[in-house]
Amino acid sequence: MEKEVFQKLKQLIQQPTLKVVILSHTHPDGDSIGSSLALLMLLQKLGHHVQVIFPDDIPSYYLWMPEIDKILIARKELEKCKSCIESSDVIFFVDMNALHRTDILADYLLTVKSANSKIFILIDHHENPEKIFEIELTTIHISSTSEILLEFINYLDKSLLDKDIATCLFTGIITDTNRFAYGNFTDKTLELTAELMRYGIYPKEIHEKIYNTYTESRLKLLGYALLEKLTILPEFKSSYMTLSKAELRKFNYQKGDTEGLVNFGLRIQEIGITALFLEFERYIKISFRSEEKYNVNYIATKYFQGGGHRNASGAFFYGDMESAVSLFIKALDEAWKNGYILQ
Ligand code: 5GP
Ligand code: MN
Repeated sequence: MEKEVFQKLKQLIQQPTLKVVILSHTHPDGDSIGSSLALLMLLQKLGHHVQVIFPDDIPSYYLWMPEIDKILIARKELEKCKSCIESSDVIFFVDMNALHRTDILADYLLTVKSANSKIFILIDHHENPEKIFEIELTTIHISSTSEILLEFINYLDKSLLDKDIATCLFTGIITDTNRFAYGNFTDKTLELTAELMRYGIYPKEIHEKIYNTYTESRLKLLGYALLEKLTILPEFKSSYMTLSKAELRKFNYQKGDTEGLVNFGLRIQEIGITALFLEFERYIKISFRSEEKYNVNYIATKYFQGGGHRNASGAFFYGDMESAVSLFIKALDEAWKNGYILQ
């Protein structure tokens, strides 16, 4: 990361007592939660007043994290969230690249932005961030937002790190790299993670809490999806799964229950591209994943107005399941014909 941006952020947060809001994306994951909480603790140590806001619920397997009970959920306490935003000086957007990722808060934030009264700061690692931030700590070459934040803390003042902050950053790094299985981490990531381990965190315990705490219905939903809902498209080296509202209800779906499910679509040797379509009340949430050589971000962006990373991206589709799947198949057909999928 460029040191000039670090310097800019350092100068800002060295001012006395700021009112800060930290916002992240809908359908929170380990990195968005880990980096938000680590930033919360860091800024509190510097004497600022900080409020973390998420658009919607935190999955149950992250509820053990330090300071998690300080988070406000916009879908539950919208007016309170708006008034925190209203009275803030600075708003951090972490682990997201576009305002609409804040879901129910997006329109309100646009109004705030046009009033031009707050400083918007981005800390993120997704492609093509929206051009609305005064300070941008963003690169696609770092595994996770948590890793970027750790680099920044090392630059700012290493002595601010502690066991709780390390726990949150460790969670963000291991979840976004899928426990060091994706191609998005480097030797630097491992060095930084080793550094976190020196703060007395318990990696085994963190793994257990995140990955071995399924409910019976969650595990059965996984089994059902694989057995009944996996469709293979051999001509496109692709696969996909769909889960309707009724199917999710049948398995007592709770937020986070499908995290990781999409990756199973890539486990077949010949398959390099996959998608998971989940039907919710207002939209279909789509997750795309691919092997290194294929670019699913192209499909997410061009056909579904979504985004993310080359090999892991997502989108929201406002229509029915059948139309979403047809558009995916059309996108695959065109991407294979003109070679975009390999670019
Ligand atoms: P997931 O499938 O795990 O929800 O998301 C995969 C990646 O794509 C994540 O990095 C996520 O932030 C990003 N992503 C998911 N949905 C969207 C979307 O609608 N728009 C954008 N820009 N990125 C998304
Ligand atoms: Mn992330």
